[in-house]
Amino acid sequence: MTTEPSIVKPLDFIRQIIAADLASGKHQTTITRFPPEPNGFLHIGHAKSICLNFGIARENQGSCHLRFDDTNPGQESSEYVEAIKKDVHWLGFDWGEQLHYASDYFEQLYGFAVQLIEAGKAYVCDLSGEEMRQQRGTPTEPGTKSPYRERSVAENLELFEQMRKGDFAEGERVLRAKIDMASPNFLLRDPVLYRIMHTSHHRTGDSWCIYPMYDFTHCLSDMLEGITHSLCTLEFENNRPLYDWVLDTLSTPCHPRQIEFARLNINYTVTSKRKLRQLVEEGHVLGWDDPRMLTISGLRRRGYTPASIRNFCEIIGVGKRESWIDMGVLENAVREDLNTHAPRVLAVLDPLKVVITNYPEGESEELEARNHPQDPEAGTRMLPFSRELYIERSDFMEDAPKKFFRLSLGREVRLRYAYFITCTEVIKDEEGEVIELHCSYDPETRGGNAPDGRKVKGTIHWVSAAHAPQAEVRLYDRLFTTEFPDSDKEQDFKSFLNPESLQVLNNCRVEPGLATAGASDRFQFERQGYFCTDEQEHRAERPVFNRIVTLRDSWAKVSAKKK
Ligand code: ATP
Ligand code: MG
Repeated sequence: MTTEPSIVKPLDFIRQIIAADLASGKHQTTITRFPPEPNGFLHIGHAKSICLNFGIARENQGSCHLRFDDTNPGQESSEYVEAIKKDVHWLGFDWGEQLHYASDYFEQLYGFAVQLIEAGKAYVCDLSGEEMRQQRGTPTEPGTKSPYRERSVAENLELFEQMRKGDFAEGERVLRAKIDMASPNFLLRDPVLYRIMHTSHHRTGDSWCIYPMYDFTHCLSDMLEGITHSLCTLEFENNRPLYDWVLDTLSTPCHPRQIEFARLNINYTVTSKRKLRQLVEEGHVLGWDDPRMLTISGLRRRGYTPASIRNFCEIIGVGKRESWIDMGVLENAVREDLNTHAPRVLAVLDPLKVVITNYPEGESEELEARNHPQDPEAGTRMLPFSRELYIERSDFMEDAPKKFFRLSLGREVRLRYAYFITCTEVIKDEEGEVIELHCSYDPETRGGNAPDGRKVKGTIHWVSAAHAPQAEVRLYDRLFTTEFPDSDKEQDFKSFLNPESLQVLNNCRVEPGLATAGASDRFQFERQGYFCTDEQEHRAERPVFNRIVTLRDSWAKVSAKKK
């Protein structure tokens, strides 16, 4: 694991609190938790929370629990549970023995609800959801007390038991906390603690038809697990008084501290499971792991490395203020990681045939190519060279301006790791489109240098036609055309989908070694960007690559350094 920063950075406000709690002896250990609801796949926002919670536990030799907050049976499934576990592991974190489910606590939670009723702090309410909303009051006016608020403890206990037994229909009754209908905090105006749902649960089946609400479940689950610090995003700030009320009212032996931090927002995307789910279910993307989605599984399939995502989370830091992170910061994190690690290879995305007319027919040779420009340890490989090659169509221009340093009629260019070639003839089809180039090569320039010291300005990549397998390459662009797709009140976020976010190139040609690349292998296609074999669809007979990210540095800079 390489998440430990090499430079000592000041601690963020959460780590400061935790350090102080350890120093003062308030806690002997630090126990955090990551509590996803299994109602969808994890996204980049969750990665921030995972890195924070598991990171803090690791730094303090504590532990971090993975807890599924599974109290909404309608939308949850074990498929999501498995996907979430896989993603957390892939990011490089491990919960050890500490795998938990809120549903494991259903019996205990029921017991706590009974205790609240016995203490006169909760009551069964027969108002409908709509009636409760109407009687909730406004920010300036208190709500109306429910006519059922003063039911006797005995009646409440009996009704709550009947709720559990399934004697009532959905929506007929709820259990509410008896707190304060005049509180300025709406969440304290007698919030619902239990509701009736005649829905099977993916783990408890039909054992229950009442399910506890988030605000009741979360604090008690934290308490039961001995969590010391319960870290959540800022939108839960108003829930904190309720979190504390439940634990205080029940006088629990342990009272975790809830601390809120700013959620991660990235432009040109949406980070809400509900919206990501819409994209999947309505077929706007190919699945949760579509490489255009900023889900963890999408990023993995796209070719992002776990280290790059951890580094990204470290760069953006943890604070109290809402902010937007530029997508470029994420792209840069993977670019930096791959720049040091990814082997360099040659691949032609839009091939144009080149015939080297003075190269003997039927012959070929092997040329040595470096696997990494800055890392001699990465070694070299041999590339076949022959009379017929492919180059990138955009590397040839017929009426080229003076500043065009690639191939043009009568001009000389270097083929990377190979020879200087000069274009002698342009072959066109009936429509006038260039279909082939005839070139001559200078055998004296083997390896890419002329013994007479003559220079060429441009270096282009190529592959040998007879040796280069055909490949499919998928180029991805941002999924949305606008920076803040889900902040427009008038327009649905899906109306900002980028119709050109996926471009499939079917006829690419890659150097021979790439056919035998394994699943999820990453490369730099020289001059083009970083690519990854597709986790699902890559085959030796039909290589499939995803573009992870384009190159920031131009070829010019790279070759200037080299020669
Ligand atoms: P979504 O709004 O996407 O459905 P959620 O908060 O409902 O997210 P949960 O499964 O409940 O999803 O989240 C698990 C944990 O991840 C929570 O502690 C939540 O605060 C955190 N989390 C979710 N989204 C973000 C985000 N964008 N940035 C940081 N943490 C996040
Ligand atoms: Mg949630």
